[in-house]
Amino acid sequence: MIPVDTPVGQKLLANQGKTVQQVLAEKPCQTCGRVMSLDYVYPTKNTVQKMNRVLPEEAQIKYEDFLTIYEIVPLLVKRIGANAYDVLISIFPTLVSPPFRFL
Ligand SMILES: [Zn+2]
Repeated sequence: MIPVDTPVGQKLLANQGKTVQQVLAEKPCQTCGRVMSLDYVYPTKNTVQKMNRVLPEEAQIKYEDFLTIYEIVPLLVKRIGANAYDVLISIFPTLVSPPFRFL
């Protein structure tokens, strides 16, 4: 692996659109070699099933793709437009901010 603190490393990072923190928080899977994040960014199988229950077939997510939530959100917006927000809010109700109030 090319160190991230070299010019070449920096260029690779820029190409991947990743930050140093993101790269340091990744490790290849010991079984299949796929680079996975060490953070809690992968929805559980149960969460993916909940999403798929309300998604049209062509927009459904494959759990086996191990997409991060950062990949899923723009993917849903691309596939079903603004409806993605309703889908996400139905699964993560705390995303809805409390009503705005003037103090
Ligand atoms: Zn693996």
